[in-house]
Amino acid sequence: MSRSRLHLALAVCGLAFAVFAAWLIGGWGGPSTVAAVSDVGSVAAGVTAATFAAVTAWRCRGRQRRAWAALTVALTAWFFGDMVWAYYELVLGVGTTPFPSPADAGYLIFPVAACVALVLLPIGTVGQSQPRLLLDGLMVGVSLFVIFWTLGLEAVFHRGDDSLFAFAVSVAYPIADLVLLTVAALILTRARSGQRAVVTVLTLAMGVMAVADGTFVLVNADDDYVSGGLIDVGWAAGLLLLAVAAMLGSRSSHIEFGLARAPSRVAFWLPYVPLPVAIVCIVLSEGSATLVVASMLLVIGVVVRQFLMAEENRRLLATVADQAFRDPLTRLANRALFQDRLGHAVALRLRDGRRVAVLSVDLDDFKLVNDSLGHPAGDALLNAVAERIVGCVRAGDTVARVGGDEFAVLLEDGPDGPLVMAHRIFDAFDDPFPVDGHEVFMRPSVGVAGITDGDADASAETLLKQADQAMYAAKRSQHGGVATFTPDMQLIDQREVDPPTDRDFTTRRSGSAGLQLFAQLRRAIDRGELSVVYQPKFTVSTGLVEGVEALVRWEHPDRGLMMPGDFLPLARQNGLMGALTEAVIDQAARDAGGWRAAGTDVPFAVNLFPPSLTDLELPGRITRILDSGGLSSDCLTVEITEDFLLGNTRRARTVLDMLRASDIRISIDDFGSGYSALSYLRELPIDEVKLDREFIAPMLTDERAEAIVCAMIDLAHRLEMTCVAEGVEDAATAARLTEHGCDIIQGYWCSPPVAASSVLDVAPLWLTAAAGRRADRRPE
Ligand code: C2E
Ligand code: CA
Ligand code: CA
Repeated sequence: MSRSRLHLALAVCGLAFAVFAAWLIGGWGGPSTVAAVSDVGSVAAGVTAATFAAVTAWRCRGRQRRAWAALTVALTAWFFGDMVWAYYELVLGVGTTPFPSPADAGYLIFPVAACVALVLLPIGTVGQSQPRLLLDGLMVGVSLFVIFWTLGLEAVFHRGDDSLFAFAVSVAYPIADLVLLTVAALILTRARSGQRAVVTVLTLAMGVMAVADGTFVLVNADDDYVSGGLIDVGWAAGLLLLAVAAMLGSRSSHIEFGLARAPSRVAFWLPYVPLPVAIVCIVLSEGSATLVVASMLLVIGVVVRQFLMAEENRRLLATVADQAFRDPLTRLANRALFQDRLGHAVALRLRDGRRVAVLSVDLDDFKLVNDSLGHPAGDALLNAVAERIVGCVRAGDTVARVGGDEFAVLLEDGPDGPLVMAHRIFDAFDDPFPVDGHEVFMRPSVGVAGITDGDADASAETLLKQADQAMYAAKRSQHGGVATFTPDMQLIDQREVDPPTDRDFTTRRSGSAGLQLFAQLRRAIDRGELSVVYQPKFTVSTGLVEGVEALVRWEHPDRGLMMPGDFLPLARQNGLMGALTEAVIDQAARDAGGWRAAGTDVPFAVNLFPPSLTDLELPGRITRILDSGGLSSDCLTVEITEDFLLGNTRRARTVLDMLRASDIRISIDDFGSGYSALSYLRELPIDEVKLDREFIAPMLTDERAEAIVCAMIDLAHRLEMTCVAEGVEDAATAARLTEHGCDIIQGYWCSPPVAASSVLDVAPLWLTAAAGRRADRRPE
């Protein structure tokens, strides 16, 4: 209900009530007119209240709906009572209404159903049970009954000449009202600010009805009640307040349960307040059968209440403990619980020698999602990530969220080593996360640290730190991924790799900038504004250019020339890699067309974003681009890093086979730097391996690096693959590689990446070598 309509409804009800009350109090038109106005007015008030409650029930959901439905039942029962009453008075004549009459059935259903409504009302607190609420209401009701009974009700009962049934009915009114009022008051003490208005009006309504009922019982004990007095005004006021509560209730239809909260003191003590007085009354009285029953009820009530309280406290404690050790967003363990479990595991390890390892998982560029799609999307993504990580580990392993986008996994024993687990988690991120209608690619950096048998005094704290260091090392490496802790890893300042974790700060500092850059990148890709440079690869035996590798560049309007490392992460995280790859292939194909027109066919290589190997459409799109440029497929090589081949091999194999079937060459980039088992070399259709710079650079000074290079060259040759060494920065390294039989070399010493227009000018290697001795070549 909108605010203005609510105000209008309130005004109309208020006005009608004022007229009604004034009429009855003024006594206009004599007793029979007043009685008629009273009857019609009461029926109208009942209909109004029942209608509003029904509408609110219809609008709400779940428990809210059931609560308002129960109140609708209560009000309909009341309305039925009023109708019967009006029938007796208006049709059969004033003074003919018997007591009790069928109307009383309706009037008595009212408090019972209203009580049910109150108990059902979801008021946003966990921990307190509904039975206890009812019990509290009953205890107060019985206590007050005992008090009233000893103070005068008993006398009324003995004096009255009514039947026992009539008496019971008239006594049932105040008792039911007291119970109802108590429950309402208790609910009021629990209600949270959002629902307090509704519950306050409900309590007020119950109070007004209770006063009217109580007065009725006293007056009616002497058969003095006539329609049209203040009592009727009271009932009508109560009904209208209920209508108002229903109106307010329809506006707060979405109530959520919050965190567990200790129950308020009032809620605890209120039910006990009339109890001592009742006990005193019982003790001082002569002990009639009624009081014996009442005191038994009270004793049972107190005992059951204690029992329920103990149970509630236990549950509340469990809930609070759970909240203290759980991350509220993902429901994973939090840092405190993780540290506790880790400490426990490390201690147990000393006893039974079980293996303990920690994985530290951090999402790359998570804040971009937060910034570009908003925090709710970021939260949804974190939940999805948590689910994926949990899906990778065994049931007993602890997964925790230890920071904004940081997760930690504790592994104890188990058939799979921590590295396998780390890769399993890493691979689980191959598929995009559907968030908010977007497909978001996330890449994690995973650090692995385990206690080896050697370090007897490894502590939980060190282990966690080491996993973090390994994670930062993984983050720093070009392709991200997985890294295992080694003692030489220095803990570099976290801020170097990761912006501050405080989300708001991040958003303010670089959020809009990140978002802007992303928008610009998207535009640059769409408009073909990315440029491509080419780094030649030279055949060692001839010194001639064997082909070129296409490397993307972005000439940013404000920031100047941007290197792949500056914007590829942004593209990866936001699903732009497919478009970017196509833009690069497209450009390279056009450039190759130019070289061909100038008389030379230059084979070219492009880098593929590993997850694109799950895209079955990719080979078709690539061959279409080549076809439209009039190029044959065998002039293209795709370079893929090996770490991707670990997971998803079946799908990747299909795509690789398709590429191979159309004569496109496959090269494994950064060969040797990943963590995959070499078995894929046997299974997959691979034409070329590119030895990672990490081995080439230290080759001359580090015998082990050289031994590895030698072995890898040999391995490639035995498998009939071409071997490329990248990152060759000086003549001595080139000479050593030639000695070891490397086929192709690439690096700044041979040539830096150059513009398309310069590719054909790149001189043969042996010429360059001579020149290189004179002047050091620098990259572009
Ligand atoms: P990569 O595939 O390993 O490419 C080689 C990188 O090493 C290039 O950096 C190149 O400029 C650099 N490099 C070449 N010779 C030397 C040398 O002698 N010493 C040293 N230290 N570095 C050398 P660049 O262009 O910054 O590219 C970095 C990475 O970005 C590439 O590594 C590749 O993984 C990725 N990348 C570049 N262009 C694309 C692209 O179009 N698509 C995709 N998916 N990735 C790309
Ligand atoms: Ca490459
Ligand atoms: Ca490489």
